[in-house]
Amino acid sequence: MTQSATPDIATARLSQKQFAENFDDVKPVLDRKKALVESSRCYFCFDAPCIEACPTSIDIPNFIRMISTDNVRGAAEKILQQNILGGMCARVCPTEILCEDSCVRNTSEDKPVNIGALQRYATDRLMAQGVHPFQRQALSGKKVAVVGGGPAGLSAAHRLAMLGHDVTIFEAHDKLGGLNEYGIAAYKTVNDFAQREVDWLLKIGGITPKTETALGRDITLEQLRRDFDAVFVGLGLSGVNALGLDGENVTGVLDAVDYIATLRQAKEKSSLPVGRKIVVIGGGNTAIDIAVQSKRLGAEDVTLVYRRGPDQMSATWHEQEFAQVNGVKIKHWAKPLRLISHQGAVREIEFEYTQLDGQGRLIGTGETFSLFCDVVFKAIGQKLVKDPVNGKAHESLDLANGKIVVTDDMETSLPNVWAGGDCVDSGIDLTVQSVEDGKVAAIAIDRYLHGKNR
Ligand SMILES: Cc1cc2nc3c(=O)[nH]c(=O)nc-3n(C[C@H](O)[C@H](O)[C@H](O)COP(=O)(O)OP(=O)(O)OC[C@H]3O[C@@H](n4cnc5c(N)ncnc54)[C@H](O)[C@@H]3O)c2cc1C
Ligand code: SF4
Repeated sequence: MTQSATPDIATARLSQKQFAENFDDVKPVLDRKKALVESSRCYFCFDAPCIEACPTSIDIPNFIRMISTDNVRGAAEKILQQNILGGMCARVCPTEILCEDSCVRNTSEDKPVNIGALQRYATDRLMAQGVHPFQRQALSGKKVAVVGGGPAGLSAAHRLAMLGHDVTIFEAHDKLGGLNEYGIAAYKTVNDFAQREVDWLLKIGGITPKTETALGRDITLEQLRRDFDAVFVGLGLSGVNALGLDGENVTGVLDAVDYIATLRQAKEKSSLPVGRKIVVIGGGNTAIDIAVQSKRLGAEDVTLVYRRGPDQMSATWHEQEFAQVNGVKIKHWAKPLRLISHQGAVREIEFEYTQLDGQGRLIGTGETFSLFCDVVFKAIGQKLVKDPVNGKAHESLDLANGKIVVTDDMETSLPNVWAGGDCVDSGIDLTVQSVEDGKVAAIAIDRYLHGKNR
């Protein structure tokens, strides 16, 4: 096969109808009848393993029982008490490795209760009524700064506001939501759900968002520690890992996360430039999402290349299968060696096959192959941008393995500063874990602020 000298990158590769279908809600939504049938499948287990498997410890059997008795508002409140972003998590949680994986009905002869769909059924109905079910406790007179308006920051802010503290969220972007707004695949969160959820969450009151205000650029930790009684840092991971290849800056070699952010904000999907042949490098959520979304934008040929095997990919088996069903080819055990460009644009990428040596280390085999491409997406992980918390500022937070070091209560090395979400090492970089981190930190901050009162 030969490759033309100029890259084939074009907009509007599909019809408006195809774009609408491809970016419609990917998961079926339950109506009342289906929700009643599904809820009746739950055994309402004592010591339910599904609760244990949920990072936010939602009382799953209890909320499902409420759905089964048509108490949808009660069910939603049960969920949201534990996880204020229960609506988003119902859409994006990899339930196949969390609650549904541990469901006692998850056997070879049966299938797990569809917990995610039931959670969505309850939370969507409550939000559609415009109801915010929580009220603030007596005002404490204390002020807390939250840096970053992603899931971790929003969760911390809401819990702190509920506990009676006044919160200011400092967010670098012009919108709150973090990766819910700029990262999650478009077909998982349709109809501007991320912003509708933020608006609904802010109804608690007592939270002042300050957008387009970045720590390290417009404010410093020192300032926040001086002006507020406590600080929560939920910066996420806004840096992107490089491939480390020569010529990485040529046209057509793109950061997957940046492209997804543009895609999420695009009013018309037809306006996005899409390559005909695309190579994605990586093995996680981001790699799967950019590969599938490229396909759904009309790319003809999308190949995802990962340096290890399917079991080592951080994307779940469900996501890997989803990519394949969407026409993405996945090649394992190969690492990129060389980008081949023509007139400043990438045209081909050479890979070397990999394997494990006797000591379990990944090594190249010496055998190579090449893929023609119009676009290469880098999706090999995000990293913490250290400067705002550990750079030029006088005050620095301790870091380990590129993340902020915290205690079990999410307290950092600096007094009155807590942190959570992807910027700390909680084990899994998921929306639901970030919500939990924010909640745990808020409860610890509340304890600290009350201690200070006495
Ligand atoms: C492409 C992609 C797809 C994903 N898909 C899923 C999925 O399907 N399911 C799932 O569970 N998880 C998914 N994840 C992971 C999930 O999105 C994250 O775990 C989660 O968003 C982390 O929340 P956070 O609040 O810690 O960080 P973020 O969501 O990154 O939010 C951090 C916020 O801080 C702001 N910020 C950064 N620096 C500064 C600064 N200096 N000053 C002020 N504000 C700042 C950012 O603008 C952002 O709003 C995905 C991640 C990516 C990248
Ligand atoms: S493990 Fe399954 S059956 Fe048991 S309570 Fe949880 S959802 Fe219901």
